[in-house]
Amino acid sequence: MSDKELQPLVGFEQMDLSKEILQAVDKMGFSQPTPVQAKTIPIMMEGHDVIAIAPTGTGKTVAFGIPMLEYISLTDSRIQEVILAPTRELAVQIGQEMEKLSTFIPEVRIAVLYGGQPISKQLNQLKKKPQIIVATPGRMLDHMQRGTARLSAVHTLVIDEADEMLKMGFVKDVCKIIEAIPPARQFVMFSATTNQDVLTISWKYQHEPVEITIPATKENKPQITQYVIPTTREEKYDHLLYLLDSDEFGRVMIFTNTKDGCRRLSEKMNKAGYQTEALHGDIPQSKRNQVMAGFKRGKFPILVCTDVAARGIDVDDVEAVINYDLPTENEYYLHRIGRTGRARKHGVAFTLLCFTESVRLDEILKYMESKPTYLKFDDMGTLRFQEGGKAFFENM
Ligand code: ADP
Ligand code: MG
Repeated sequence: MSDKELQPLVGFEQMDLSKEILQAVDKMGFSQPTPVQAKTIPIMMEGHDVIAIAPTGTGKTVAFGIPMLEYISLTDSRIQEVILAPTRELAVQIGQEMEKLSTFIPEVRIAVLYGGQPISKQLNQLKKKPQIIVATPGRMLDHMQRGTARLSAVHTLVIDEADEMLKMGFVKDVCKIIEAIPPARQFVMFSATTNQDVLTISWKYQHEPVEITIPATKENKPQITQYVIPTTREEKYDHLLYLLDSDEFGRVMIFTNTKDGCRRLSEKMNKAGYQTEALHGDIPQSKRNQVMAGFKRGKFPILVCTDVAARGIDVDDVEAVINYDLPTENEYYLHRIGRTGRARKHGVAFTLLCFTESVRLDEILKYMESKPTYLKFDDMGTLRFQEGGKAFFENM
């Protein structure tokens, strides 16, 4: 398909949307729907089940958010719609995007439920009779079992980051939630990547789903230049600092593989005079929210994080993503680097690679179908292009 065919044929005005939504979209500064929005919104509004696969940063949240808000019955104060997300940070972010979309529909009430936050705070939200719930699966189930959230009037269920949500560890909870919702519901799944689990759940629970796949094209593909910097275990930390000093990056996300590694790296960098905060699963939830909000607001330039921040998180102007550790799963490379280059801006991603990891990286790049540029530091700590790519290792 040519790029031209993928251009949206319709604007938001041609989509049969309420004036409140059009107003909100305008206020959010969106002049045109993205391809995934152009395709999904009309189909979801017709009531179909959908699986939508579209690259990172292409506006999937609004693609399901608009039809959900158009569907709500404002006179019914029961829970009507549920959005499930794999991480607390993503649930919070989706809640915020839904709030923005519903700016001009003040009767819409949205509750965001996730683990690590006091139940009492969430009970207050639930007492306000939200029509929409955004939740992580564990906490959703918790409220269902306590009887504090009843899903018997739900007509729309959306699972964001579906492939992650249906992995071991989540899938059981997710299935219980699906099964608690009346079978006539609309069930929609969104993701940047897909896998067998998504197809299995689709086959089991969706009714004649419409599949929408937005391929990565020049137009909508995140503009991310990828670099690999060969290093050694001993030099990796120094190379990271050289890299940060080599340019004036406004906002950077540094990914590590473990909570402990994340904490230690952040502490070490702070002692060295860099302004960082750590974000990982062992940090208390209130602090996690504070860190994420601070990073989005630009209170500090460097977020050192684990994969809790890899999926779906949208921060304006993340200029660089650095893989301090190589991700252990192929698709996480894509989700991590997809935190930059969002909404058609340009981003860069760097991977600090130890010799022993080069086979793993090859696997990842094969999966990604991408070719990075190899760089190296010279004796002065200056980054240079590496002629012949991987040959560098052979000379070490
Ligand atoms: P995805 O879920 O596909 O990774 P998001 O929903 O997080 O993407 O959206 C990425 C960014 O694009 C967000 O900052 C969002 O506000 C913005 N965005 C969404 N729709 C549009 C649009 N139609 N025009 C411009 N920007 C948009
Ligand atoms: Mg998303």
